[in-house]
Amino acid sequence: MAPNLHPWSNMSDTMLLREEMVEAQLRARGIRDERVLSAFREVPREAFVPEDLAEFAYEDAPLPIEEGQTISQPYIVALMTTALELDPGDRVLEVGTGSGYAAAILGRVAREVDTIERHEPLARIAAERLTRLGFDNVRVHHGDGTLGWPEHAPYDAIIVAAGGPGIPPALIEQLRPGGRLVLPVGEGRGVQKLVRATRQADGSLASEDLGDVRFVPLIGAQGWESEQAWDGRPARGRSRPTTLAHLIREQALPLSQIEGHDPGALLERIGDARLVLIGEATHGTSEFYRMRAEITKALITRAGFALVAVEADWPDAQTLDRWVKGEPPSGRSGDAVPPFQRFPTWMWRNHETAGFLEWLRGWNAASRGDRAPVGFHGLDLYSLFTSIQAVLAYLDRIDPEAAATARRRYACLSPWEADPAAYGRAALQGRYRVCEREAVAMLRDLLERRLDYAARDGEAIFDAVQNARLVADAERYYRAMYSGANESWNLRDHHMFDTLASLRSHYGPDAKAIVWEHNSHLGDARATEMGSRGQQNVGQLCREKFGSDAFLIGFGTDHGTVAAAHDWDGPMDVMKVRSAHPESYERLCHEAGVPAFFLHLREPEREVLRYELEPARLERAIGVIYRPDSEIQSHYFHASLPNQFDEYIWFDDTRAVRPVTAEDARSLAQGHPFSVGS
Ligand code: SAM
Repeated sequence: MAPNLHPWSNMSDTMLLREEMVEAQLRARGIRDERVLSAFREVPREAFVPEDLAEFAYEDAPLPIEEGQTISQPYIVALMTTALELDPGDRVLEVGTGSGYAAAILGRVAREVDTIERHEPLARIAAERLTRLGFDNVRVHHGDGTLGWPEHAPYDAIIVAAGGPGIPPALIEQLRPGGRLVLPVGEGRGVQKLVRATRQADGSLASEDLGDVRFVPLIGAQGWESEQAWDGRPARGRSRPTTLAHLIREQALPLSQIEGHDPGALLERIGDARLVLIGEATHGTSEFYRMRAEITKALITRAGFALVAVEADWPDAQTLDRWVKGEPPSGRSGDAVPPFQRFPTWMWRNHETAGFLEWLRGWNAASRGDRAPVGFHGLDLYSLFTSIQAVLAYLDRIDPEAAATARRRYACLSPWEADPAAYGRAALQGRYRVCEREAVAMLRDLLERRLDYAARDGEAIFDAVQNARLVADAERYYRAMYSGANESWNLRDHHMFDTLASLRSHYGPDAKAIVWEHNSHLGDARATEMGSRGQQNVGQLCREKFGSDAFLIGFGTDHGTVAAAHDWDGPMDVMKVRSAHPESYERLCHEAGVPAFFLHLREPEREVLRYELEPARLERAIGVIYRPDSEIQSHYFHASLPNQFDEYIWFDDTRAVRPVTAEDARSLAQGHPFSVGS
C-alpha cells in the first residue's frame, strides 16, 4: 500500500524523475562515474518503452518490450556501463539492442557504438527511435551478435545484454588488447554471473565476477542454441511444471471449508513460535481475511496469543482495540472521527473484519477476570495528522504547557495536512524547511516524561508515545518517498517492526503476537527480488531477530474477484483477477488441481518439495490498487517461495471482500466502530 508517486505528464516531471532515478537507484547504490550518471540524466527512458508502460519508465525494474524481450533495469545498465571503464574516445560494441536504451546511454559516454539485435522488428524500432531522438553516433545492425561485428573490429569495449553459457570466442577476438568485455554467464534460466573480462596483451583474458544478475538468453551460434535449450538445462527446479504441480498436489493438505475447519494440524506445525505472521496476496480477498481470522481465533483460544497487530493506522486501530476490550471510547485520540474513513476504506471496514472484531469482543467479554483481554492494534504510519491531534489531545489533558510547545513544534507540518506527500517533495527540493527536529523533540520529551505522566494518568501515555513516534517516523517517511523507493519502504517496515516490539513489551516480556499484513511485508524479503534491491521487511526483521520463533504464513490465489482501486485515492471496484502467469508459483498451485490447501514449507514431509520450489519464480502481489492490463510489471516479482514463507495457503478461486456500506453501517449496533461513517 504505497501512494502512487509518479503521476507525471510533462517534461519537467520526467526530468525530475530522471534526477530521482539517478540519485536513488544509481548513486545511492554506488554508481559514482559522473559521466555515466549524466548520461542517465539525459536519455529519456520513457521514449524507449511501449507507450502503455511509459508511466513505469522510472521504476527500479526491467520492463517488457516487443518480441517477449526486456529493457534492462537502469541500475544494471549503469553497473555494466561503469564496468566498461569507457573513455570519451572509445568505440563500443553492444550485443542485444532490445529497446536501444543502453545503446543511447553508451553513445553519451563513448565516441561510437555498434549494436546488434537478433530480432529484426526490435532492430528496426530501435534504429528509428535512436535516429528520431538524435543519437547519431549509434549504428543498429540486425544479426547474430554472438559473432560480433567483424567489419568494425577491434573494439575498445564490448557489452552483452543477454545471458550466454560462456564467453563467445568471436567477441574475444574482436576486443583490442586492454579492451573490456562485460557479459552475464550462467547455466540457463535463473541467475547468471556478471563477468568483466579484460583482454591481455597475449590474447588471454583476466576475468572478475561482478555479482548476480538475471537476463534473457543470448541465442546464437556462440550462445544458446534456442530458448528451449536455455530453458531445458537440467538445472535444479527446472523440472517440468507438470512434475512440480504433481509434487504440490501430493504434499498439499486439502482444505474443504474455512469456517469450521479445525486448524489443529497447522497449530502443531506452528509449535512454540511466539510470533505468527499471516499474510495476504491482495488487500481485498474474502477468503484470505476469513481464513486468517480462523487461524487467529485458534491461536488466541488454544495457544494463548495476546494481541493482533495489523497493517492499519495506529489511531484508527486504537478505536477498535478499545471496542474489542469493552472499554468506552476515549474521546481523545481519533474516536471523534470514525475509524478508516480514508482511502482505502474497504481494507478494514469490511464484513470479514467486522465479524472477527465481534468475535474478539465476545471472547474478551467471556474471559474477563480470567485473563487479560486480547488487543487489536495498527502498525502503519499513514496517520501523521491524526496522530498529531492525538498527541495534542493527550497533552491538553495532562500538561497544557507541554501542549503549547507541541502545538508550536507541530505547526511546522500543519500546512501540509491535505497532502503530506507534498511536504516531502517541498522539503527535498529545499522549497520548505525540514520539520525533523521538531517531530523528534516531541517524541523525546514524551519519553523523558513518560513515568511522570504514567503516574498521573495511567496507561494512556503508551498511546501518546506511539503517536509521537509515528509522527517522527512519518515525517521522515514522506521525505524519503522522494529520495528513493527503498529508503521509504525500509523506513515504513522498520516502523512497523518497532511498533510490534513496543506492543510486545507493553503486553508483557514474552507476549505472543499475531501480525496481519500483506505477503510483501511478511514474507522474508531476502527471498525476493525486492530484497536483492535493498528492501527489508517485517518478515525478514522478525526472522533475523527471532529465528524459528517467528512463523511466516503466505496466501495465494489463481483467479476470481478482488476489491481494489484502479488508482491511488480512486473508488473501490470489484475487479476480475486474471488467471496466474504461466511462469508463476500460482500457476503451479493452480495446476496442482486442489481447490484449497495448506502447503507446509518449513519442514515438508518430503524435502524435495523445498528443493524443487526453491529456484525463484514469479509471484503475484495485488495491493489496494489492481491494474490487470499491466499485470506483469505492476504485480509480479521474482521470489523463492519456500524461503519466503513457512506455510503457504492456497485458494484457487476467490471472491472480493464485502465492504461495510453506509446502509450496512446504519444497521450495526450503536457504538460499533463501523456503525458510523462511509
Ligand atoms: N540493452 C537492451 C535495452 O536497453 O533495451 C536490453 C536488451 S534485452 C535484455 C536482450 C536483447 O538481446 C534482446 O532484445 C534479445 O533479442 C537480444 N539477443 C539475444 N541474443 C542475441 C544475439 N545472439 N544477437 C543479438 N541480440 C540478441
